[in-house]
Formats: sequence, structure tokens, C-alpha cells
Amino acid sequence: MEIQFTPWRMKYIKSHNAPPSEACVLCTIAQADPANDPQHYLLHRGQHCYVVLNIYPYNTAHLMIVPYRHTADLPGLDAASATELFDLTRRSLGYVNAEYQPHGSNLGMNLGKVAGAGIAEHLHMHIVPRWGGDMNFLPVIGGVKLIPEDLDETYQRLRPYFEQG
Ligand SMILES: [Zn+2]
Repeated sequence: MEIQFTPWRMKYIKSHNAPPSEACVLCTIAQADPANDPQHYLLHRGQHCYVVLNIYPYNTAHLMIVPYRHTADLPGLDAASATELFDLTRRSLGYVNAEYQPHGSNLGMNLGKVAGAGIAEHLHMHIVPRWGGDMNFLPVIGGVKLIPEDLDETYQRLRPYFEQG
């Protein structure tokens, strides 16, 4: 499916240098200076995992919960990371529900390229809020999806929840 972005997207492209193709973008975000978290749309740093907006969202407030550890191996993930991964998923969903009142949500992981993972080498949990009619005629007819809210606004709306815990 083609995703058609609104003009703020160009601002993003111009202000961010793409990481080298061999670099893992999820590790790059984790290892960046926390002072730059807002420009990476990083919402929260836990002990073992962090929460970040997906910059190629399927829908408004599409979050990802990511272990700091670079691994694709969910069965091999240490218990502390796995526990915090799910706890941050639970908390993040609560914040999204409070701020956006979605009608439902998709949660999940795409493990492996064949399963649809965009960044297969570093596992991550997706939270995709859903509203009735959000997959309406545009994707069906045009193969185009519109994201109604820009990432900066989503970030500003959700960051206070994480700061207040
Ligand atoms: Zn990584």
C-alpha cells in the first residue's frame, strides 16, 4: 500500500539525514543523546525498552515499544526486557486511549521479513489505534492512505502522559 504523506513530511526529510543502510535505525535512536529524543519522536526511555512514534504510521498515534537490545529473537529475549516490553505496551495503550479514544487497537509484532517486518533485525511491538472507517475508500480505491495528524502534534499530545508516569 502506498502511504501518501502531507507536506510536513518534507520537513522531516529535509531535517534528518538518513542513517547508513547498514545501521539499525532502532539502535541509532536508542543510542542518540536523550536531549534529541523529541526530534526522534522518542516518547519514553525505560530501563530495558523505549517507546517511539512510528515515522511511517499506519494510523495516527502509531507507537512502537522497542528493547534497547538489538535482537530479532523474541524467544531468546531476556525476561526483564520482555516484562518491560509488555508493561510499556500496556501503559502506552492506556495513554493513547486516554488522549485519542480509539474504537479499538491492533497490537503485534511482525517477526521476520516474510511476516512483514520493516526492520526485521530488531524486534519491536506495534500499537496501532483504530477508528471505525479509518480504512475507508481511499486505500481500497487508490491504494493511498492518509494520516490525519502530523507526528509533531502526536508527540506533543502523548509526551506529557509519559512524563507524568
Ligand atoms: Zn538494532
